[in-house]
Amino acid sequence: FTDIAHPVAVAVECAGTGEGIPRASGLPDALFDHDGQITKRPIRALTLSALAPRPGETLWDIGAGSGSIAIEWLLAHSANRALAIEADPVRAERARANAWALGVDRLDVRIGTAPSALPEGASPDAVFIGGGLSHALLEALWARLPVGTRLVANAVTLESEALLATWQRAKGGTLLRIELAQAAPLGDRRGWRSQYPVVQWSVVL
Ligand code: SAH
Repeated sequence: FTDIAHPVAVAVECAGTGEGIPRASGLPDALFDHDGQITKRPIRALTLSALAPRPGETLWDIGAGSGSIAIEWLLAHSANRALAIEADPVRAERARANAWALGVDRLDVRIGTAPSALPEGASPDAVFIGGGLSHALLEALWARLPVGTRLVANAVTLESEALLATWQRAKGGTLLRIELAQAAPLGDRRGWRSQYPVVQWSVVL
């Protein structure tokens, strides 16, 4: 599986869809084994766009869950690298399995709780926070990462949204509120079923 020339072919075999996987970010949620804790497809597409992977870059995916963000980062280019940090060992193993199933062998998965589980050594080009967002984590990242590192954080709760609002005022960057609704049956008609709004902060350190 090292240096797979045709990850799409592997993904077809493993996912069993009989079709290639799309090249755009925001793959169907069903391509990832998950327990409901997954960044849903439209939000994932916007998140990858904000993370803006370039060939050869490295991502830290903090609170990686199913690994979907890190995996799409890896699928963006064969020279990309990613570290998934996930507190839950079952989810960490699932992230590992999802990477293999989609034909990427470059996902490094670390079980642990951020910020204490942040690695020593080489710094990433970009960091995504999908879980474990806290003042302590942001402080640790600012203390640890070089100027120029891209950071994207998604918040769903009022508490984490307030944290992002405070940090954006201090550090700048862009706050984006993403409100999506999907048509669903409502009696014999249809209505818009809203998803929780996601607040996304993108900033360059
Ligand atoms: N982006 C993921 C979904 C993340 S859900 C995906 O697309 O699948 C948030 C995850 O963060 C959960 O799996 C939770 O176990 C993890 N988490 C919460 N706090 C954490 C922390 N401090 N360090 C590491 N992981 C954490």
